[in-house]
Amino acid sequence: MWVTTAVLLVALSGCGTPAPTVEATTTAAQTAPATTAPPSPAATLTPGTIPAPAQRAPEPADSPAAAPSTAAPQAVPTASPTAVPSAARSSAAAPRPEPAEYSDPSSLTVVVNKRRPLNPVDYFPSGLVLPSVPLAVQEPNALLRGETAAAVEDLFEAAANDGVGLTLVSGYRSYQDQVSTYAHWVAQNGGNTDAADRISARAGFSEHQTGLAFDVGQSDGACTLAPCFADTAAGQWMAANAHRFGFILRYPAGAEAVTGFSGEAWHYRYVGVDVAEAMRNDGAATLEEYFGLPAAPGY
Ligand SMILES: [Zn+2]
Repeated sequence: MWVTTAVLLVALSGCGTPAPTVEATTTAAQTAPATTAPPSPAATLTPGTIPAPAQRAPEPADSPAAAPSTAAPQAVPTASPTAVPSAARSSAAAPRPEPAEYSDPSSLTVVVNKRRPLNPVDYFPSGLVLPSVPLAVQEPNALLRGETAAAVEDLFEAAANDGVGLTLVSGYRSYQDQVSTYAHWVAQNGGNTDAADRISARAGFSEHQTGLAFDVGQSDGACTLAPCFADTAAGQWMAANAHRFGFILRYPAGAEAVTGFSGEAWHYRYVGVDVAEAMRNDGAATLEEYFGLPAAPGY
């Protein structure tokens, strides 16, 4: 009954692995690289510097071929006309990526949503490794990009030190995996693609394909990939601490009009500590809002 329940929950989950292949919690033998220096641009900003992305223009939706450079940069006032109060808000202290950094699928700040497919759609990330943490899924779906895996290891260790057991439920998912996953959801919803689209990304539109996103569970399996995960010790610990390790809750409850997905308290995305903390300080709930990109409620 436990297993049945778990399988059912997974089958109903948004991030949608059709069915978990492994229930047992195992620890990966392979160790991820310990060094992680997120290649964050401009770790420090000199006083008075105005971050260039402040001039970014919203990207047209679905323009994978659009060259970011064609968006004529607006003039940057070099001779600072006194202070620029608006640019001096807390977010100005955090590096914001250039357009290429949220279009390039290998960038830690890439934004993938229903209007921003991966480019190419069958993108395969390099440097996937198996994080050395408790797993509830087998390779290759437990793999993560190296910097993400290292951050996951630190995060799981910190949670354990606070008495909270976490498990990795789903990591990397290939384009073909997502083809199957989405088809599963359409079938589960009697062919209703609108219903499927609320809970599962179409192939080529999933963050899991970047190796930067993962689904977290509580080690006892409570509320795995279910809305009640938000109320578990694991869910609450993640909500309060994930940003310290460079992760954001990618699909917050109540943000469906922006993200296109109903809330997923278990889906976290690595963006690096600087961006994760800046978003929290700014009160930005989504990457779209933080980067000034259009909302993506639908395809
Ligand atoms: Zn997910």
